[in-house]
Amino acid sequence: MNITDVETHLVSLPVRRRHTWAGNYSPVGQRYVLVKLILEDGTYGWGEAQVLKDWSGEFGARSGETPDTTLTIIKDYLFPLLKDEDVTRFEHLHLKMDKFVKGYPYAKAALDVAMHDAVGKLYGVPVYQLLGGLVRREVAVAHSIGLMDTEPAVKEAQEVFDEGVTCLKIKVGIDPERDVDLVKKIRAAVPKMRIRVDANQGYRSWKDALQITKRMAEYGIWFMEQPVEGLEAMARVAQATDVPIMADEGCWNAYELLRLIRHDACEMISCYYTKAGGFLKAKSLLSLAYTAGIQSDVNGSAEMGIGNAANLHVAAANAAVTIPGTIPITQTAEVQRTRIAGHNYLDDLIDAPFEYRDGHLIVPDKPGLGVDIDPKKLEKYRVGG
Ligand SMILES: [Mg+2]
Repeated sequence: MNITDVETHLVSLPVRRRHTWAGNYSPVGQRYVLVKLILEDGTYGWGEAQVLKDWSGEFGARSGETPDTTLTIIKDYLFPLLKDEDVTRFEHLHLKMDKFVKGYPYAKAALDVAMHDAVGKLYGVPVYQLLGGLVRREVAVAHSIGLMDTEPAVKEAQEVFDEGVTCLKIKVGIDPERDVDLVKKIRAAVPKMRIRVDANQGYRSWKDALQITKRMAEYGIWFMEQPVEGLEAMARVAQATDVPIMADEGCWNAYELLRLIRHDACEMISCYYTKAGGFLKAKSLLSLAYTAGIQSDVNGSAEMGIGNAANLHVAAANAAVTIPGTIPITQTAEVQRTRIAGHNYLDDLIDAPFEYRDGHLIVPDKPGLGVDIDPKKLEKYRVGG
């Protein structure tokens, strides 16, 4: 079944509160890219790219795409490579995209997800079935406390725990005293919460990162995510503390994981379908992680419904994903699942939110991604494309 057409949209959603982290200056949920890939029989698939110009790899190695560059790359460069090709040939299509367009993993990820959504519908199976089948149906989620003042952060942590989410990600990497103090106060307020911290490369040296990690260990953090920038610095921190170190900005694909493994630079990784460039490459990354005994979560950049669906299928079908990640709890204006926990947007573009139970999102089991775009919502939240 051949690919015949593509539609692109830029969409913005209203947010519950401002959300950001060290090194991010872009508003999340604004001008995300939505792609609809259409096949010759009219079957279609959706994909999403949450492009943030400041989200990058190490030392600018993977420059942040922007909504406009992603749109251009999809419409003018990648789609012409896919047009009139058989949509079921995932590997072949990735080889072709990588041969003629270097980089741009977010653009490729959006197209890869749209291809899988369409193929799932053609075969009448959920996407997780195309990725190896179910390892888990319920995916534990963590709630992300973005950079915010201490008092509202502590209050939000308590509210989230009361709503059933028992794992918290605290964004740090700004100021060591502020960061340690925040972890201390949240620990005191919610003693049973599992706390993970994410510095987003914010500490300036490996020694700073190591000292801060050791101080936070006194308050029972589970692990420290990407405390510092650079493979060598990460390795020094990882080898000098018992606190597990997670690589995120430093782990986009299987090659980067191989380097991290060689340098003993992490015990955990953060994987999302976008960084790797889609399902196919996220799968190879997670297979390598599993082989090396490295655990993963599934995170992202405040995905909307289609992106969350994609990440849920990644989490559902890969054995290495054992850590609760910050997959937002999608809700619409009509159907709410939580008040605060995982609640990023006040509405969404998908027709119905995912089921949610006790801190877990339930992976949809309808064909493809298992969710569709509501045309009225698309009209309402479309800002370009
Ligand atoms: Mg991170």
